[in-house]
Amino acid sequence: MKITQIKSHILQYDLPEELGYSQQYYARRTAHLVEVTTDEGITGWGECFGPGNVAIANKTIVEKVIQPLVVGENPLDRDVLWHKVYNLLRDHGQKGMPLQSLSGVDIALWDIAGKVAGLSISQLIGGRHRTKVPVYGYGMMLRREDASSLVCRFKHEAAAIKEMGFAATKMKLGLGPKDDAKLAQAVREGVGPNFRFMADANHCYTTADAFYVGRALEELDCYWFEEPIAPEDYDGYRELRAGLKVNISGGEAEFNRWGWRGLLEARALDIAQPEVCALGGISEYLRVLALCHAHFVPVVNHVWGSAVAVAANLQLLAAMPPLPGGLFPSEPMLEFDTTHNSFRDELLKEPLGIQQQVKQNGGYASVPSGPGLGIEPDPDFIRHYEIDG
Ligand code: CA
Repeated sequence: MKITQIKSHILQYDLPEELGYSQQYYARRTAHLVEVTTDEGITGWGECFGPGNVAIANKTIVEKVIQPLVVGENPLDRDVLWHKVYNLLRDHGQKGMPLQSLSGVDIALWDIAGKVAGLSISQLIGGRHRTKVPVYGYGMMLRREDASSLVCRFKHEAAAIKEMGFAATKMKLGLGPKDDAKLAQAVREGVGPNFRFMADANHCYTTADAFYVGRALEELDCYWFEEPIAPEDYDGYRELRAGLKVNISGGEAEFNRWGWRGLLEARALDIAQPEVCALGGISEYLRVLALCHAHFVPVVNHVWGSAVAVAANLQLLAAMPPLPGGLFPSEPMLEFDTTHNSFRDELLKEPLGIQQQVKQNGGYASVPSGPGLGIEPDPDFIRHYEIDG
């Protein structure tokens, strides 16, 4: 069996409304899908993390840099191919876009391996510790509104996400420490006293400001404080973790086993959030997961993107061993974006229907059981949204 072609599909559309997080506002949704074809008619799908023009640059890396290294090779040799590509790109990028690009290719090779074996990726990894996963719905994005109007909006949106049946919810921060504390207060009021909520700063604070916001989050019984400070600032993370009671989470901007080794050895995180579509794909995710568990750090995957990324993460969450285990173990959750996303809801011939499942099954989504990722993207849908990169 040989790889015959690797193709990137960049999908894009204008969102019905502009959304924001602490770094920027954005008005377009982008997805970067990777399609690996073989001489035996089996096709694998993967996805690369990276919005907008980053996706266009990553497409060039996938098609012009990685493709020539692996065409003609056996797709089942995914770990051999991972190291061939990584070792040749090491001098040009041990983090960032080369790893995002390799991630999409690696996920597609796992999809092929599952289809060849007739097994889902979770079975290929070693089996399912769980067949369904609790889902948290994130929303409460920033808008170009004044703080008092956002406070009102966040309170209502938090209540609405709870009403949809999600197991927990997550808000954005980013207006500045004082207003962010008011936004978090509004979210607690919106969901009531006994519902789990988290807050995501997308690394917008100094350590001192993060302490101020972290103390406010503690008072509100917030479950985790995500990416409070810059991902490079391991010392700052360690200080926050030592000084705050709220869980410190992060890691979506860290790459491969060597990057994660540094983060974990710095004792920077209470909860690790690896992004499989960025850190190096499923092959590398499994090594990072083992490193996290070796440091006794629980993992709740970062999830962003289309139905391909959601399916990949459902497979990984099913195959994740409980840490440390018990009759009522702490469970990982699936991250789910509640804002407008056609690439997640309409890409597949048989949609995952996460929101319907959440509503019907008490906040849980089931893991696809078909071979590989267990999904089939619709080629007509892809053609309709594909842009030239
Ligand atoms: Ca985040």
